Amino acid sequence: MISIKNVQKVYSSKKGQVRAVDDVNLEITEGEIFGVIGYSGAGKSTLIRMLNGLEIPSAGTITVAERVISKIKGSDLRKARQEISMIFQHFNLLWSRTVRENISFPLEIAGVTKAERIRRVDELIKLVGLDGREDAYPSELSGGQKQRVGIARALANNPKVLLCDEATSALDPQTTDSILDLLVDINNRLGLTIVLITHEMHVIQKICHRVAVMEGGKIVELGPVLEVFKNPQQPITKRFVQQVTEPEETKETAEHLIGRYPEGKVVQLTFVGEATEQPVITNLIRHHNVTVNILQGKINQTQNGSYGSLFIHIDGESKEITKAIDFIRSQAVGVEVVTNG
Ligand code: ADP
Ligand code: MG
Repeated sequence: MISIKNVQKVYSSKKGQVRAVDDVNLEITEGEIFGVIGYSGAGKSTLIRMLNGLEIPSAGTITVAERVISKIKGSDLRKARQEISMIFQHFNLLWSRTVRENISFPLEIAGVTKAERIRRVDELIKLVGLDGREDAYPSELSGGQKQRVGIARALANNPKVLLCDEATSALDPQTTDSILDLLVDINNRLGLTIVLITHEMHVIQKICHRVAVMEGGKIVELGPVLEVFKNPQQPITKRFVQQVTEPEETKETAEHLIGRYPEGKVVQLTFVGEATEQPVITNLIRHHNVTVNILQGKINQTQNGSYGSLFIHIDGESKEITKAIDFIRSQAVGVEVVTNG
């Protein structure tokens, strides 16, 4: 669906040249939710803006839905853009227009008849869950509702690709989740290809199938989300993964637990993929002569399976504890003994 070949973007400024995107190669498949993560200045916005021709590459080729976006201009580019729409961090709504009028705007530009516009806008309002807010102005809406208008407007002309530039970065965590759920729903229902850029690993974890990590204009790591979580290679990727797998309080908790459980062993289990936590714990208790306490856990769901970590306390005879830990290790679960009692 999207092919990015040897793409570079160099900006000239007073301070010299900035290589915002530096020799990027990517293939994004139809129907995929593809995430690009990186810190500020990594080149994410520049990359995504080249996908709909808002920026022209300095070198290389970009093809979207069989059109060479990096080459076309004028009315061909405008036509192509109806198939590649975009949502933004700050929504970019028209403040003097109601919800209905905002969503109708791209249809007016595309020359859709009035009757058809009304029908389509009603349909879109239902799709994004804005029933009852049709006649409100953007200033009367919450952040989440504004982004729903942005999404409805972006979908108006039945695009093949939806680009999201930090679309949830201005929203609180709960609203972020509801917008991400909506994007997954749209991806499932319409088979739309979604490319999103973010600096938050939570967003990647929750909805993306694959992720590219960007640093200094380059893609430094690429893979299915679960693979990248399981086995991050680059230091920057490890830091991003830690954002979600190791919450701030984990280290403190581990230290706290050592004090609380001087006997037995405190063990941290890490689960990735299909192996879920429950059968492992059940079998551990059933087949070993130890007592098991679950102390703390965080299991996250991704589009391809779950991962997370669980702290448990195992007590009993030391020989039995060793056997129990060997058993857990045999279950394709990451095991780390936090204390030696
Ligand atoms: P990100 O979205 O990851 O924060 P950007 O793509 O916005 O990164 O920017 C990448 C680099 O390119 C930054 O160093 C930025 O300052 C520079 N840059 C972006 N747009 C321009 C521009 N129009 N002119 C000059 N430099 C730019
Ligand atoms: Mg940006």
